[in-house]
Amino acid sequence: MENRLVQLEKLSRQLEPLRDERELLQKLAVQYSNQFLDEQQDAPAYTPFTKNVVNTLLEDPITEAGVLPGEALKIFGDQVVPPGLNLTSGRHFGYIPGGGLSVAAIGDYLAAVTNRYAGVYSSSPGAVALETRMIYWLAELFGYPETSGGYLASGGSHANLTAIVAARDSKKLKAADFSKAVVYITAQTHHCVARALNIAGMSECVHRYIPMDDQFRMVPEKLDEAISEDLNGGLIPWLIVASAGSTDAGAVDPLADIAVIARKHGLWFHVDAAYGGFFMLTEKGKRMLKGIEESDSLVVDPHKGLFLPYGTGALLVKEAKKIAFSHRFEASYMNDTKVDSGMYSPAEISPELSKHFRAVRMWLPLKIHGITALRAALEEKLLLAKYLSEKLEEMDQIETGPAPQLSVVMFRWTPDPDEIVNDELNRSLHKLLLEDGRIFLSTTQIGGRFFFRAAILSARTHLSEVDTLLSVLREKKEELLKSL
Ligand SMILES: *Cc1c(COP(=O)(O)O)cnc(C)c1O
Repeated sequence: MENRLVQLEKLSRQLEPLRDERELLQKLAVQYSNQFLDEQQDAPAYTPFTKNVVNTLLEDPITEAGVLPGEALKIFGDQVVPPGLNLTSGRHFGYIPGGGLSVAAIGDYLAAVTNRYAGVYSSSPGAVALETRMIYWLAELFGYPETSGGYLASGGSHANLTAIVAARDSKKLKAADFSKAVVYITAQTHHCVARALNIAGMSECVHRYIPMDDQFRMVPEKLDEAISEDLNGGLIPWLIVASAGSTDAGAVDPLADIAVIARKHGLWFHVDAAYGGFFMLTEKGKRMLKGIEESDSLVVDPHKGLFLPYGTGALLVKEAKKIAFSHRFEASYMNDTKVDSGMYSPAEISPELSKHFRAVRMWLPLKIHGITALRAALEEKLLLAKYLSEKLEEMDQIETGPAPQLSVVMFRWTPDPDEIVNDELNRSLHKLLLEDGRIFLSTTQIGGRFFFRAAILSARTHLSEVDTLLSVLREKKEELLKSL
């Protein structure tokens, strides 16, 4: 047995590279990262791909002996990263851009190296305190009181799900009530909310779509009416989900008015601020999001408005004990972890136990960059959206959507009197833009018509990137017209 152990140890010690080997891989990774970041200024925002090329990755062998570090990094750099949307590009205007602050990446590296157990205080009090600090900072930003709490989730979808479960339990809804329970949303509400209701076992609850004004905002009077009618009809009005920056149009529902209605009828008021929440750091954002402090829970995505790499959402709940109730557990092997820390451990208030030490990637950029730079970047995005919208209005044969409330600009090209022809032309234009790759725009529909969306939220988007958007658009429109 001893001999076998010696043999096995010799092999298993390969898992702990010696200092020199470790430094080689670190050096290669840092070289790659720096080159990648330096190239972003000119790198395509989109690289067309074919399924066949991507599928070669599915056949990439995982071998008994392993390969040299350089070989593995080459596959990563040549095959994994390039195809598709370049989410680190400042010319990525699709969906809701995320960030990719390089300082956050270092935070991730440190989190993984130290591998602190961010779920449980008694194991890693420093890690739990760091996450709690991030939550306190968010609570201050959104005007939540000391009774509030929350955690860093993988993203907005996950955080919205937890909010819905907390709201369900807080209202003491049982399975027998679900078909009478009513949730109030709009056609702009992110699809993850309906999905969260499904996952929470509440797919049969009544989804009441409240009409919107011409700027895609929930009409409070219609909400009030709908709740009264449902109460009269013997239903159980239960939850209102408002958007603070809808993903599609960037619309902000009138939060303060909705809060009054929620309180009047005793409903849980949840705000999905995954996209728009961090505009709270700006004066305009504070005005737009007024009333968010009255909500019972809110979701904000640091991987959007705080420019962090993907994988960081946050949930705040006004009364932290409500999420603690929804996540209560008994397990004899966890008895040692019950200590009086004066703060909730993420494992007590969220679905995860062992969790990514997410706080470092948020804390390090906040600490090092400070708030001024982040606030300036957010104010810059709001102003760039206004700039883009004005420039588009000056362009011939361009119709813009509603004036941007935050940083989403919608527009369509209208060279033809026939709107159906225009839809076709816009679709062709979108294809040309994808093939070109310098800018990436996503698309949507307003009133059944094709619209482009430019969402400005990448940390790397500045005036010159928006000017490039405008010039590429002009160029490709002409190209298309000539080819007809
Ligand atoms: C992005 C987004 C979500 C979903 O968040 P993920 O982080 O992508 O899971 C939910 N709501 C809104 C308004 C969003 O913009």
